[in-house]
Amino acid sequence: MASWSQERRARYQEQRKIWAADALDTLTSIYYSASYAESLICHFVSERRKQIYPDAINHRYKKTPIPRTLRIAVFERDAYRCQRCGSWKQLAVDHRKPERLGGLAAMDNLQTLCRTCNLSKGTKYDGPVQ
Ligand SMILES: [Zn+2]
Repeated sequence: MASWSQERRARYQEQRKIWAADALDTLTSIYYSASYAESLICHFVSERRKQIYPDAINHRYKKTPIPRTLRIAVFERDAYRCQRCGSWKQLAVDHRKPERLGGLAAMDNLQTLCRTCNLSKGTKYDGPVQ
């Protein structure tokens, strides 16, 4: 049998779904767009989350694109070869020290990696820089 607190919790979760649906309906009727209403709610939620947990890591970190000229300069320096396995296929420029750890889009922090090596590296810090 469900305890009183479990029941209350379940009822609260139901209520939250109703509130969310109501908020979405209201915003959709104001902006005539369900997708815009949804993006607004996502924005409100992420702003509120930042207020509540200011030190939390932002997992939806957006990468800033590396300028084309810089990318080409890195490829040139690395002779269009993956710096891990030497492949010249599916090359991409990778941050040795990831952006989310404060790594900059500068020559000495960038390296050429193939897709396979880049995926296996992920967002790990790749060796000492600076
Ligand atoms: Zn490789």
